[in-house]
Amino acid sequence: MDPLDGIAPACRTSSPSKCAPFPIDPMTNLPLLLCPDCKDVNFVAFIVRNPHIPNLGRRFFKCPRNQPRNNKTCSRYSF
Ligand SMILES: [Zn+2]
Repeated sequence: MDPLDGIAPACRTSSPSKCAPFPIDPMTNLPLLLCPDCKDVNFVAFIVRNPHIPNLGRRFFKCPRNQPRNNKTCSRYSF
């Protein structure tokens, strides 16, 4: 099994010398860290669009498994 599978897409290019430890969010230049719970998926970046949340418009990161349609198997997120 490929040890890089699902860890860092940036590492899967043809030039390992440019291999970044994590993909970088172009909006914030912050690294999309590995979810500390899942340990095999990186956070994805979103912008708060729910007007009922005080952080409206802010960028935040959450585990791609933190979704109702995924049975919310992971509830990790961070601002
Ligand atoms: Zn997770």
